Amino acid sequence: MLADGRRAEIAANLAGVRARIEAACAAAGRSPEEVNLVAVTKFRPAVDALHLYALGQRVFGENRDQEAAPKAAEVAAALADTASDPFPEWHFIGQLQTNKVKSVVSYADVIESVDRPELAAALAKAAERAGRRPRCLVQVNLDPAAERDAGGRGGAHPQDVLRVADAVARSGVLRLEGLMAVAPLGAAPEPAFERLAALAAKLRGVHPDAMSLSAGMSGDLEAAVAAGATHVRIGSALLGGRPPLR
Ligand SMILES: *Cc1c(COP(=O)(O)O)cnc(C)c1O
Repeated sequence: MLADGRRAEIAANLAGVRARIEAACAAAGRSPEEVNLVAVTKFRPAVDALHLYALGQRVFGENRDQEAAPKAAEVAAALADTASDPFPEWHFIGQLQTNKVKSVVSYADVIESVDRPELAAALAKAAERAGRRPRCLVQVNLDPAAERDAGGRGGAHPQDVLRVADAVARSGVLRLEGLMAVAPLGAAPEPAFERLAALAAKLRGVHPDAMSLSAGMSGDLEAAVAAGATHVRIGSALLGGRPPLR
């Protein structure tokens, strides 16, 4: 059956990604338990997330609210009458406008892309109203010299990171957990991830509980694990490339 074929394909991809994480941890002298896999389901239907769920994956990432909100709802509905436990955890990993915060806090457990104090303030207000306490990462722009919108990737300038982190921590409702970044386009990821690791150490000096470091995608997870990533966000290596536009 088609669906079974897809599940087998995803199972093989998941095993391959887990093996890469294990090998990267072994090379770095780290335990694989220190590295969490965030399965990025953007561009992919809810049924792919359900295949991953059935294969044991519990943490999912999405980068656009318009796509994430209905997908999270569809996954929740599909799991509602099974005794599924624990429930999937959704990470919002994309650029976020303040007019979307109400929607995002309704389903996101973790917001990895907080990159300015005004966004932290808007998230805090929305979370308070919704009775939610989302965990937050501050997204760092590792290539601040490049055109800001070159990749549309967002992130706080490295020198603003502590200010954004303080805004999250002071909010009283958002929980500051660490940093997130995307490696610069067209450059080796290692030096960028080393700068990120240094910033993470600096942040922990001020906020000792901010232990998470989300870095690494399908193409550079090994470099991220070597630099101390606690979360890798993997899309195409699990689910294939972006499907053709319909
Ligand atoms: C799409 C995306 C990923 C996953 O990228 P792949 O190369 O498909 O693994 C990770 N992080 C962010 C912020 C993304 O938008």
